[in-house]
Amino acid sequence: MIKIGPAGSSGLGNEEGIRHAKELGLSALEVEFTYGVRMSNDEAKKIGLLAQELGISLSIHAPYYINLNSEERPKVHASKTRILQSCERGHYLGAKYIVFHAGFYGKEDKEKTYQDIKKEIIDLQKTIKQKKWDVMLAPETTGKASQFGDIDELLRLKKETCCHLTIDFSHLKARNNGKIDYDELFKKIRHIGHIHSHFSGIEWTAKGERRHLITEAKDIKELLEYLKKYGADATIINESPDPFGDCVKTKKLL
Ligand SMILES: [Zn+2]
Repeated sequence: MIKIGPAGSSGLGNEEGIRHAKELGLSALEVEFTYGVRMSNDEAKKIGLLAQELGISLSIHAPYYINLNSEERPKVHASKTRILQSCERGHYLGAKYIVFHAGFYGKEDKEKTYQDIKKEIIDLQKTIKQKKWDVMLAPETTGKASQFGDIDELLRLKKETCCHLTIDFSHLKARNNGKIDYDELFKKIRHIGHIHSHFSGIEWTAKGERRHLITEAKDIKELLEYLKKYGADATIINESPDPFGDCVKTKKLL
């Protein structure tokens, strides 16, 4: 099954956004905590109930200011607090996947970065378990070479910590000079179960992602063909400047 929904509510607010998604025949919505977790647990419960009633699957994008590999401990601590706040709201929203960009390599090599981030993920999972929050950490494939989170790193993290991952197809393209080998990718991710993903048009430079663009029909078609070819069970969250419009386009093509 393929679920389609927007990243955020395009300024409508979460409840109106969920209603609008339903009106457009969509089936998912990613709640954006881009600049901070500004929602109470009571509000989360209310929004979660509405989404459940209307059959809209929710996920959460945790704040952008996250670096689990910062040299400064207080920054790592603040990052973990933001992720845990997102997890708590996620629990009350009924949102399973908590999406975030895990961190930057900084001065460290890839392996040291991996080990440091892995340690923090395991620590976060201890709290999630203790609090009995029904959510999964889903670090995202990132769009810049300076950011931790290529597909192999995240698949290894999933294997070694049992976290999940978010596959941002556009970011993978941006990391690789605009090229993506879907066959190679789907062979790698076949075993992961549900594919929680992001998609949109993207502009990139040699350093990677620059900005998200409107999603072109030919790119959507290509992705949908591969999802079909591999019988994928997936959620596609559209992160373009017009997520609702692009979701409708995607749904028609599907
Ligand atoms: Zn993304």
